[in-house]
Amino acid sequence: MRTAILAAVLSCALSGQALAWGQEGHSIIAEIAQHRLSPEAATMVEQLLGKGHSLAAIASWADDARDARPETSNWHFVSIPLARDNYDEAVDCHPADEATRGDRIVNELKRLRNELRCAPGDKQVEALKFAVHFVGDIHQPLHVILEKTGGNDIIIDLFARGDKCTGSCIPQHDYMKFHAAWDSGLILGTVWDWGRYVDLLETGNGWLTSPEAKVSGIDGGTPEQWAEETHKAAQAVWALLPENSVLGDAYYQRVAPIVSRQLGVAGLRLAKFLNDAYASKQCPVP
Ligand SMILES: [Zn+2]
Repeated sequence: MRTAILAAVLSCALSGQALAWGQEGHSIIAEIAQHRLSPEAATMVEQLLGKGHSLAAIASWADDARDARPETSNWHFVSIPLARDNYDEAVDCHPADEATRGDRIVNELKRLRNELRCAPGDKQVEALKFAVHFVGDIHQPLHVILEKTGGNDIIIDLFARGDKCTGSCIPQHDYMKFHAAWDSGLILGTVWDWGRYVDLLETGNGWLTSPEAKVSGIDGGTPEQWAEETHKAAQAVWALLPENSVLGDAYYQRVAPIVSRQLGVAGLRLAKFLNDAYASKQCPVP
C-alpha cells in the first residue's frame, strides 16, 4: 500500500519536464526588473506588450512555447561540467542536437541583446518575452550544470519546515527532481505567493537592500560571466546535497540566501539588459 501511494506521489511529482525557474521565480525576477526600468524602456515594454501588461505576466511564456517550438529547447540552459570552473563555448555551445533543438542560453542572450531593439514586428515582442525568461534561467544554478541532466535525474525529498511551516506545523515529505526543488520547491517553501517574495527581497534585510546589491556594476556583465558566476553557486548547492537526498531544514537554511541572491541579481541584470537595449539608437546595437 505504501509503495502504491509513493508511486502515485512520485508520478504526480515527476510528470512534466522541469524547464526553468518555476512561474514564481520568473515572476519574481520580472517584477524586480519592472520596478527598475528606465522611462524609455518602460514605454517600449508598454508598446510591445500593451498597456497594463507586466513583465511578470509574460515571464514564463518561453516555457509554454517550447513544445510548439522545439528549436528553442536548448536556449533554456547550458551544460557546464561541475568540475570545470569556466564556460567553454567550443564545448558547451555546440551540441549535436543544435540543428533541431537550438544552441545554448549564452548564445541566445547575445542575439537577444540586438533583437530586443532591432527585430521587426512580432519578432521584437518575442525577443522581449525570451529575454525576460532567459536572463532568469541563466541565474538558476541547476540550469548551468551538465551532471544528471542539470539535477533532473536525481529525486530528492524536500522535507523542510521552510518559512511557511512554523509553530506546531509538521513538515511534509515532498518528492521531486533536485532540479525542480531549485525551480520551485525552495521558493514555495518560503512564501505562499511570489509577490510576497519580491517584498521580502526589496525590504528589511532582503537581498536587494544588502551591500552586495548596491555594488557598482553588480547589474552588469556578459551572459558568459553570468553563466560562470551561476555555475559557482551551482557547485556550492550541489556539494550541500545530502547523501540520502533528503533536503531538510539544514539544507533549506543554508541555501535560502543563495536562492534570494540569484533571484535578486537576475532582476537587477534583467532591468539593465532591457534598459541598455532600448536606449540604443542604432541597429544593430553596437
Ligand atoms: Zn526556461
